[in-house]
Amino acid sequence: MTIEGIVLRCTRSGYTVHAGTQILQCTLRGNLKKQFEFSTSASRARRVLRARPEVFRDVIAVGDRVRVHVSHHGHGVIEEVLPRQTSFSRAGFRGKERTVVCNIDQVAIVFACAEPRLDPWKLDRFLVAAEAESLEPLIVANKCDLNTPEPFNEYAGLGYRVLPTSVVAGIGLEELKEKLKGRVSAFVGPSGVGKSSLLNAIQPGLGLRTAEVGSVTHKGRHTTTTAQLIPLRFGGWVADTPGLRQFEFLDLSPEEIADCFPEFRDVLGSCKFDDCRHASEPGCAIKEAVAAGRISERRYQSYLNMTANLT
Ligand code: GDP
Ligand code: ZN
Repeated sequence: MTIEGIVLRCTRSGYTVHAGTQILQCTLRGNLKKQFEFSTSASRARRVLRARPEVFRDVIAVGDRVRVHVSHHGHGVIEEVLPRQTSFSRAGFRGKERTVVCNIDQVAIVFACAEPRLDPWKLDRFLVAAEAESLEPLIVANKCDLNTPEPFNEYAGLGYRVLPTSVVAGIGLEELKEKLKGRVSAFVGPSGVGKSSLLNAIQPGLGLRTAEVGSVTHKGRHTTTTAQLIPLRFGGWVADTPGLRQFEFLDLSPEEIADCFPEFRDVLGSCKFDDCRHASEPGCAIKEAVAAGRISERRYQSYLNMTANLT
């Protein structure tokens, strides 16, 4: 009997797979490794097309959907790896560890309505990172008991999903569960905005590791843990990985960054010069759109900040 599942953890000794209501310890069928080297082309094209071949060196990564032959109680053999939809990869501390999580299909970007006050420049960077990886962003405006979510209106206006929540007042938590249901989500955002609190509110115990890691970092950096998916009791998974928390974009060109601003997309391609960086070039359609009020000054300035030191 084979059943479909999702890889929660990869260790030297094997793979933990969540299939239906079971958690299975699995090994890999012997000849699968070879086969898989030729079947990576099915991955969905990312918005950023630059090749990152290291992603594909992993036969199986956390988040992979697999078919498992259940051999005996609690154990199985992975017979097949289904095509990856997305793949997120980051080098860890001093390149020692690498985070690879596949098939994340949503990034919950958590910021607070107050304490700390919304830093839109920072939120823009998280959004660009999500767009660059083709991960659908969900902006969570937490601590809405302290302030209205009005600072987030700008983002709702751009078409982003914004969900006001409050762990303290119990607002938006059912809606958050609804949005996480059946999906693989990553929680990112600056520290202190309430990521652990939110995770604990939707499933007690879930935010624990985040808190533990945070509280021991002053004792040294060797506490970093490897990537894993945590199953949610109401359905769905949350990706828990240290690399994900530093959700910064890497190696993006100005052209790629511009494409990660959704309000730029209709206008891109109308500039006088094909290689326009939308900075001081004449005949720039982006600058015209800013002057006409169709693109906000602030977002345009954010683009300039992100591309200022790039060649
Ligand atoms: P993290 O660093 O993003 O994981 O943030 P934490 O979950 O550790 O929360 C940081 C602080 O914000 C803690 O003192 C929480 O009690 C507090 N906090 C979290 N959520 C809320 C909320 O919805 N409202 C208020 N007023 N405080 C919150
Ligand atoms: Zn331009």
